[in-house]
Amino acid sequence: MSTKQIIIAVDGYSSCGKSTLAKALAAQLAYVFIDTGAMYRAIALYLLRHQIDFNDTASVLNALTQIKLYFKYNSTTQKSDMYLNDENVEAEIREMRVSQKVSEVAAISDVRNFAVAQQHVMGKDKGIVMDGRDIGTVVFPEAELKIFVTADPAIRVQRRFLELSATNASITKEEISENLEHRDLMDTTREHSPLRQASDAKVLDNSNMTREEQLNLALSWANDLLR
Ligand code: C5P
Repeated sequence: MSTKQIIIAVDGYSSCGKSTLAKALAAQLAYVFIDTGAMYRAIALYLLRHQIDFNDTASVLNALTQIKLYFKYNSTTQKSDMYLNDENVEAEIREMRVSQKVSEVAAISDVRNFAVAQQHVMGKDKGIVMDGRDIGTVVFPEAELKIFVTADPAIRVQRRFLELSATNASITKEEISENLEHRDLMDTTREHSPLRQASDAKVLDNSNMTREEQLNLALSWANDLLR
């Protein structure tokens, strides 16, 4: 395996399978996987729990001083869990009440500056696969490999439904579809760091691809840069 360390940015719409791909890619390369969406979700959870008005800049800024975020490896699930002030919030941040508000929270400039500063530290030694919306455009515009993931909306809803209905029997496809549309709209139209395909990104439309096919394609791109 090459000892060269690069930054791999994986951006794209909600529920396109970015995390699954990024995680598998990181495992293959022995790189660190960073799910930046989990950071925005944890911040949203904190603001919801403390009933902080997202439009109240002073309260949001004050809340950010109270938030400590980090990832910790879970040997049972073999994944990194998101910790908010030393509490494992990995399951709670995936709940619908957080999904419904996270894009509003992620549109706040102070929230983005707070999260991006930590993402810069996490990537300073390279050797990372970071997934999000603005990694290749704003966080690491110098990333050696940028992958922009996309998939047919109906396929995204179906995938998300299978995932969420495993733990939530009352969830409906309509609810998921509305949430994905809402988040994509918010993420692509916000003023600060909107979701955009970087001009030098490689597009991966995984509508009709297996996980293995996606991984092999992404790995071939990475290996081209690593040899
Ligand atoms: O990746 P995930 O769907 O968990 O992200 C949740 C939300 O966090 C997104 O809908 C988006 O609003 C926000 N986000 C962001 N920038 C990132 C990662 C996520 O704005 N880099």
